[in-house]
Order: sequence, then structure tokens, then C-alpha cells
Amino acid sequence: MINFESDAVHLLYKQYKAVYDKGGILSNLSSDSNISSVWQKITHETQISADELCNRVASLAGIESYPGTINVPVQLAKKIPMKTLVRHHIAIAGVEVGDAVIATANPFDTELPEALAFIFGSHFKLVVAAPDNINRAIESVKQLQDTTTRRATSLNLSRSSQSEHDDGSVPSIMSSLLRQSVNQGASDMHLQPFLNGSVVRVRVDGRLKRMTLVSSDIADGLIRHIKAQAGMDTTAKMLPQDGRMLVELEGNEYDLRISTLPVAGGCEKLVIRFLNRQSVYALADIGFSLDEVHTVRRLSAKPSGVVLVCGPTGSGKTTTLYSILNTLNNEAVSIMTVENPVEYQMQGLSQTEVNEKAGMSFAKALRAILRQDPDVLLIGEIRDEETAQIAMQSALTGHLVFSTLHTNDSLSAIPRLLDLGINPVILAETLAGIMSQRLLRKLCNDCKQETEPDNPMAAAFEKVTRTVQAYEAVGCESCGFSGYKGRTVVAEIIEISQAQRELLLGGEKDIAKFKNAMHGTFNSLSMSASRLIISGITTAAEASRVIGHQFWYALADEYSSELPDLSSLYDKNSQQNINQNAVLIAGEGCSKTQLLSNALKNSWLTVLTAEDPISANSVLHKNDNIEVVILELSDLLSDEEAVNTVAQYRREIAWSRIPALIRIPADKPHWKALLLEHGATSKFASKAIDEKEVVSLVQSAISNNLDFRWGTKSENS
Ligand SMILES: [Zn+2]
Repeated sequence: MINFESDAVHLLYKQYKAVYDKGGILSNLSSDSNISSVWQKITHETQISADELCNRVASLAGIESYPGTINVPVQLAKKIPMKTLVRHHIAIAGVEVGDAVIATANPFDTELPEALAFIFGSHFKLVVAAPDNINRAIESVKQLQDTTTRRATSLNLSRSSQSEHDDGSVPSIMSSLLRQSVNQGASDMHLQPFLNGSVVRVRVDGRLKRMTLVSSDIADGLIRHIKAQAGMDTTAKMLPQDGRMLVELEGNEYDLRISTLPVAGGCEKLVIRFLNRQSVYALADIGFSLDEVHTVRRLSAKPSGVVLVCGPTGSGKTTTLYSILNTLNNEAVSIMTVENPVEYQMQGLSQTEVNEKAGMSFAKALRAILRQDPDVLLIGEIRDEETAQIAMQSALTGHLVFSTLHTNDSLSAIPRLLDLGINPVILAETLAGIMSQRLLRKLCNDCKQETEPDNPMAAAFEKVTRTVQAYEAVGCESCGFSGYKGRTVVAEIIEISQAQRELLLGGEKDIAKFKNAMHGTFNSLSMSASRLIISGITTAAEASRVIGHQFWYALADEYSSELPDLSSLYDKNSQQNINQNAVLIAGEGCSKTQLLSNALKNSWLTVLTAEDPISANSVLHKNDNIEVVILELSDLLSDEEAVNTVAQYRREIAWSRIPALIRIPADKPHWKALLLEHGATSKFASKAIDEKEVVSLVQSAISNNLDFRWGTKSENS
């Protein structure tokens, strides 16, 4: 005769009995809805300990168990009302990477998640603890409330500090970080020294955002743990390393690519790239218009030739290429790829991964697979002369070749290929089409609103195009208060006709003619973006952020309008760049380094400046997205003043452990030795070095390029 008042307790008992009470020791309980007495009964009759029962119930429910004493974090003691604690018989056992850890003896209480969601949103996780331990925890909260009138500090759950991780082991913090990254749709997770600890950031929809701060002890533990798991050398901290590991997160299998890089102060920066065994989408689903889909179909139906996709890192080039390959993929066609790394796994393709360290370069891998006679070839990226030559040569011998090129727009691909030593005749013969693309964030449908007249970007857009931006971003819970959710492709696609092809024969000297001939034959990136702005899918601010100043130049050209005042436009919206990677240029008169800062901005970097050491310190404290500090030394300084200046900067900003590049006036090459002698550990570059070169140094540092060493290319003397 079972007479439970509480269905939840009944359920726990029944489930437990079904799974563990094979011998039928447990008799039915009567008139008992109390969780404590159910636990007592089970432990008594089966002779197992409370901790063991805790483990069993946890595994029944598929969650973690929490054996032992529960120490309620003081700052959370009042977070859950006493009534709720008693009613559901729960206690707060800690915080794990932003999630409140809630201990319950009965994970089958169906009303509990709802009650907790009311308080914590989605930021909580359940663990199983013994009723006695929960009782003691509830008692301690009661005492705390009785004896103190101290105001309970509310805790920002997304910014947990070290003390809240105290009860979490390194592996559990790690899995929690990985889980959260994946839940947010992150493509990368970064762990790098910041202030006195480390900051964990994730890249979501192409933008870095802060997830949490951890103490340096925990950061060290995490790096050691991940290195061990990924088969890397845990003792070598001063060498860049890479490794990989397979993990299952939230039901999906992920291939994690891990790289570490030593940074100043004997610390390491860690980057994890999440490669999901992703599904491939149809071109129209990524955001290509019907016209664009047809053009791509025509290009990919050619028996041979080269089709290039251009754009910066993270602009979705690989996704587009795989969507194209997907349409070509059938048993009658042999498709082979050479990539670094292989980002998608697709049935029916033969995919090769480049491994420079093991001597398998792009060129070498390509030569090997060409012997296998593929019909269609995907080359991950053309970045050197040899790869460019092989790509063109294979197109010439009857293969259809797809690849990517790191240029801003489609037309720039042609001078770039000529730079790489491609013969104009071969280029004219093989080049079938070039596309260039970007990913723009889409307005959140839950909160977007009709554009208000006081929106400066929208007003500028209307002035230039004489059409209206339909909606503007607001921000709500469902989009993480960014106003945007998900991304879409904007593209420009060039299909080269026979007549245009002949203009390519002239090489370098006819590029202008070729560009003129192409003018008006395709929709530019900016025009494609404006279509999405007018139809209310994205905003002018977003297009301007992603495409840069070029967005406004192209529109003004297209509509024969006047260019808006870009400096005021960008100043008013400087907040929008807050999540982009940033470079701090420091030094007296640094705000006058227009060439360098423009070059950096054109490479999608935010530029911050500081005229003196104190303000450099404060800028670094306010911005956790600064990746590199460039210190400009004025040529007006004496030798002694230069040494003092560098020493002052070191005192103020060395704590940040961010790599610094000191630019030395071209006529003071002896300063390098002088500064080294006085203890400088930064890297040096002469101001005579081209801005573009400095930008590429900065980018290498940021992208964690493992071939990069400070002090090789940039050394001055
Ligand atoms: Zn929203």
C-alpha cells in the first residue's frame, strides 16, 4: 500500500527500486512523502552509505552527484527565498563558470527547474546531495539571515571570480567552459592573461566577447589539463604548440584544435577552435540570393577552370565552398580537398589535411592528390606562389578548381594572383569566376524596431542611397542584448566573359581596363548589403562595421551621391567596435600616426591611443580586447629620454602581459641595443618598415600563427 503525498518522492523511490533493488530488499513505504525518510529507509535496508546513494540517484537522473558537506557561498545565501529552499529541499552548493550549482536530494521534482529558472534564468545546474547535508546547508543559511543584516550582494553570474570556482575541479571547470562556449555557438575560445588572472573569451558570430575571468592558478591548471588531454608537452611553456582532441558536448562530437603561444611574463595564451562535424547547408539557406545561386551554379557546372572565393578570415568562405561541393557531390565525380584544417566532413569526398610540421605542405599534398586524378579540387587557401601555380596548372589540365584568397574584394584577386607570379596568359585561360563575401549579423526578430530618425548610421544611409533602412537594432534577452541574432552572407560574384577574359592577357598594365570593363556588370558587396538593409534583415551600422569605410565609398559611387562625414559617423558609433580585436598605439603624438592606424583599421582592427604611460595603463584596464601594444618613440627624444620613456611604460603596463612592439625612428637604429641593455624585453621594429608589414606582424600575433616569432621579420639591426 503506497500512499505518497508527493509524486516526485514516489517517483524517486520507484525508479530507485526498479534499478537497484533487484533482490527485493526494499519494502513499500507507506504514508511517507518525506524525502529524508525515503533516503534513510533505502540506506538502512540496503546497507549502502549516503554518499553511495547520492552517486546512484545522480546516475539515475543523469547528473553529477555532490557528496559531502555543502558550503553555501555567502554572496548567494539570500538568492533563493527561504520558503523555496524548504519547500523544494534544496541548497546552493556553489557557482561553476557562471552557473549556480543547486543541490537536491530529489532530481525528479518536476516543479524545481521552473522555480529555479524564475530566479536564475538558464544559469543553474542541478546536482544530487544527501538530504542531511542539504538540511545542514539550509540551517546555515537561516543562521546567516538571523545573525547578520549585511546586504546580500547580488552576483553577476556571467563574471564569476576565483572564489566561486573553489569547489570545482579543473576538469569540471574546463568541461563547463567548453559546454558554455558551444551553447553560445562559439567558433573559438581564448584564454589569455588579463589583470591578475586570465580572461576567457569566446568568438560568437565573428566577434570576441568576454565569458568569464579566472584566477591565474586556475588558468595554469586549465592549460596543463588541456595540453595533457590534447597530447601536447605539458612541461614546455615557452614553445608554441598545437594539438587536438575529440570531445562530445551537448550531444555533438567536436574536433578541438588547440594552440598555445608563450606571451610576455612567462605565461601562455591558449586558443581552442571548435570544429563541429557540421552539416552542410544549401547556398540559398546561407543567405545567397536566387540570382547569386544561379551564377554559382553556372560557374560550378564548368568542366574546368578556377573559381575563387575571397574575404578575410571568418567570412564564411569554407562554408560556401562546401555548399558548392555538396551540389557537385555524386558517385560519378571524384572530389578531393587539401585543407588546413579540414573543417567539414563530407561523405564521398577525399579530404587531405595539410601538416606543415610533418612536411606535408599545401603544395606537396596537392602534387600527391593530383596523381589520383580528381575531377574537382578544393584547395583550402592560395597563399604562396607554388600553390598558386599548381592551382592554375591543374585548371589548365582539365580540373575544376575551387580555392580561397585573402583579399578584400573580388577584383583585387587579379593583381594578387599576378603578384604570385601567375602568367597572365594562363590566368586569362583558367579564371572562371571570383566571388567575395562577408557575414553580416541579422537583426533579432524578437526586438528589432522601425528605424528612429535619430539613428546617425541610418540617416547617412538614407542620404547616400535615398532609400530607408527598414529596422534598427534594440536588444532583448533572446539575442543577448546585442540586437542581432544569427548571420547571413553578402556577396559579390564576378563571372568572366570571353571579351573580359582577353583584357586579362595584358597582365598588370591592363588591370585598370579590366576593372572598367567589369564596372556595373555585377552587384558589389556594398550593394548586396544595402539590399538587406532596405529589406530589414540587417542595418547600415552592421554593414559599415563589417565592410568598413569601403561600404560608404561604394554606395556613394553607385548612387552618385556625396560621401557622408565618416569621421563623425564612426566616432558616434565607436561603441560598436568594442568586441573587435584592438591595438593600442602609445607614445607622445601617437594620435598622429594616421597611416598606421588607417592600415590597422582597414584590417578590421580597433585602434586605441594613449599619449602617456598613465593613460596607456588606464586604457588597458578598460579594454580586454587589446591584443598588441605598439609604442611609438619620437625622433625628438635623446638617447637617455628614450630609455626613460620605455622604462616608464614598462612600469605602467607590464602587468597586462600583452606583447609590445616598439617602433624606433629610422635614424636611431642604435636605440634597440641601448634599450635591450636597459632591460627592455619588447620587440622592435624600425619606423622605416612599411605599415602593411606592421599590420601583418600584428595580425600574426593575434591569429596566433604558430610560424610567427617576434624578432625575426621585424628586427631592425
Ligand atoms: Zn533581440
